[in-house]
Amino acid sequence: MHVKKGDTVVVISGKDKGKKGKVLAAMPKTDRVIVEGVNMLTKHKKPNAQLQQGGIIHQEGSIHVSNVMLYCNKDKTGVRVGHKILENGEKVRVCKKCGETL
Ligand SMILES: [Zn+2]
Repeated sequence: MHVKKGDTVVVISGKDKGKKGKVLAAMPKTDRVIVEGVNMLTKHKKPNAQLQQGGIIHQEGSIHVSNVMLYCNKDKTGVRVGHKILENGEKVRVCKKCGETL
């Protein structure tokens, strides 16, 4: 996967196209991510121990990782990601557009 938990990404397709948010969870097994404020689902909950009143809950649903691009602070947009190996052997992600380390 080209994104991981904590990354800032931009949605590039679907109803939330253009939205920017933080990756709250990444699920490499299914190639899906949960992005803050994206693909909000409304769930009607019956009262239970945690939620005594019951009611409506708004919660993010997962989206396919191919629908997001990593956000580059320099380009102010979603960008393609490349990889670079530093002199110390560390592998880092770089913006393919401006070369900035992401
Ligand atoms: Zn960039």
